[in-house]
Amino acid sequence: MPSFACIGKDCKFEASAATEAELMTKIAEHAKTVHKMDPIPPDIMVKVKAAIKN
Ligand SMILES: [Zn+2]
Repeated sequence: MPSFACIGKDCKFEASAATEAELMTKIAEHAKTVHKMDPIPPDIMVKVKAAIKN
């Protein structure tokens, strides 16, 4: 199951989902509500994808 721990400074958000697509939805929602990223900038997205553990 893919999982993700937020790369944001001092952010303790963690998520996991059945598929990477579902996980990306959760991450996008978190980024929007907590980090005011809507959408997530491409340079951050690269780091987000690198931080996903399968
Ligand atoms: Zn976060």
